[in-house]
Amino acid sequence: MSTQLVWFKRDLRVHDHEPLLRAAGKGYCVALYVYEQELIEASDHDAAHLAFVNESLKELRASLRKLGGELLLRVGRMPDVLDQLHQRLGFERMWAHEETFNQLSYQRDRRVRAWAKSKRIQFTELPQYGVVRRLKDRDGWSKIRDRRMKQSMVEPPKQIRLPAEAASLDAGELLPLDQFKVQAFDRVEVQIGGEDQAKRCLDSFLDSRGVNYRSDMSSPVTGEHGCSRLSPFIAYGNISMRTIHHRLGNRVAELKQQKKSGLPVEPTWLKSLSSFRSRLSWHCHFMQKLEDEPSIQFENFNRAYDGLRENEFNQDYFDAWCHGQTGYPMVDACMRALHQTGWINFRMRAMLVSFAAYHLWLHWREPAVYLARLFLDYEPGIHYSQIQMQSGVTGINTVRIYSPIKQVVDQDPQGIFIRRFVPELIDVPDKHLAEPHKMTRMEQTLFGCQIGTDYPAPIVDHQKRYKAARDRIHSFKKLPETRAASAAVYQKHGSRKTPMSRR
Ligand SMILES: Cc1cc2nc3c(=O)[nH]c(=O)nc-3n(C[C@H](O)[C@H](O)[C@H](O)COP(=O)(O)OP(=O)(O)OC[C@H]3O[C@@H](n4cnc5c(N)ncnc54)[C@H](O)[C@@H]3O)c2cc1C
Repeated sequence: MSTQLVWFKRDLRVHDHEPLLRAAGKGYCVALYVYEQELIEASDHDAAHLAFVNESLKELRASLRKLGGELLLRVGRMPDVLDQLHQRLGFERMWAHEETFNQLSYQRDRRVRAWAKSKRIQFTELPQYGVVRRLKDRDGWSKIRDRRMKQSMVEPPKQIRLPAEAASLDAGELLPLDQFKVQAFDRVEVQIGGEDQAKRCLDSFLDSRGVNYRSDMSSPVTGEHGCSRLSPFIAYGNISMRTIHHRLGNRVAELKQQKKSGLPVEPTWLKSLSSFRSRLSWHCHFMQKLEDEPSIQFENFNRAYDGLRENEFNQDYFDAWCHGQTGYPMVDACMRALHQTGWINFRMRAMLVSFAAYHLWLHWREPAVYLARLFLDYEPGIHYSQIQMQSGVTGINTVRIYSPIKQVVDQDPQGIFIRRFVPELIDVPDKHLAEPHKMTRMEQTLFGCQIGTDYPAPIVDHQKRYKAARDRIHSFKKLPETRAASAAVYQKHGSRKTPMSRR
């Protein structure tokens, strides 16, 4: 009987894991996870990512052992690790999920494929999202994706048979964070990784938390509970996208049935779940962009915007933005929330980037890397697409400049979120929370917050910077060469649901 190797990466689960099922059905089977130093010590990686992976690996190993298998844990560079293992196990075939991650993983995958070819080892990579490899044309992409999501899920294998050689191999240990030169923020409350947590998270969202998703998602106050919070589990593959789709479909059918039978159903449920379904499809839509054009990790989607911000990087502005010290309470609260929890809702992510790109006129590259470390759910395909979109350099999306003042009024009028993360403002009344620098000296003394001492004065003037940024970005956008480049970007990456003419 031949030996198969299943290489786990960002697919840390046993349920709906086709490479595992197929490998286990073909003969002896060994699972492998590699701590890759070059990825762990990269600038877009953080200790919290590694902690989440370790939690996931612990559970994955236990699940595989229950099935009779083993998860080998190794540290090193790929494909060197494979080479060493191959000498001991002599596996004939390798299985993995396709991955669309960063440039390092892209190069690593090429090395692994070349190594497998040189050893005449068959290497089978199977899709795990709606991302299509070597896609020729965006037209028709969503049909392929929808078809994939409708396919049946696969069960874990009934049993895994280990080859005799595996008995003499050291299984390897979960590696502690201090083993690597990995950067770390002081986290306070971060989501925990693993299949079990992912399942609980989905259950609670579909059973109760998601009822007001549509209205809850915009505010950082309600979004924390009312958004699905599935993003890190999706990013590390603790749950498959297909599983979420199937469970969502079942829940929608159940609610419709209840309604038909005259049972009470909260009127917001179905609309909320419809919005949630759209977000799930955006996940794959954005990841497809990076798959089709890996250079967007570093380069503008629309190269006509090259030169727009490159020579104006202000380090002091960047530092203030990174540390939540801009003097704009909503920006600072969001940044500090990210430091502590690794999560913030979509609108606030967009506002943070908009503030960096327009008010501070920072190029998106540095903020993107900083946020990549902060976001527990860092997913380059979504991340770089969104960062560029919110910085106005795609040419195919509406330019949206968020007012950090209006966001307080709209999303946190009672200052619940702001006071939680910016305690300097704890006694400042609601009406001053959007612009505390406008308090009189007397008020500052009265409310225990001296601007410039306890809390910074705004580092830039909102109105002036907003207007200047709007004029600059629009003057670039309407140039004939920008418009021509935008048409090409749309052709390659644009959502076919929103025709170019409507943008
Ligand atoms: C500048 C910026 C950077 C971002 N970077 C990331 C990132 O690195 N990783 C990441 O997962 N999301 C990213 N997002 C998208 C979005 O903000 C998060 O997916 C969402 O906030 C995660 O919380 P949730 O799981 O509760 O989402 P929910 O609102 O419950 O949505 C469910 C799932 O749908 C997907 N999704 C939701 N919104 C979007 C969106 N706008 N685009 C693509 N997919 C979406 C995610 O997989 C998410 O987990 C980014 C958004 C912005 C504006």
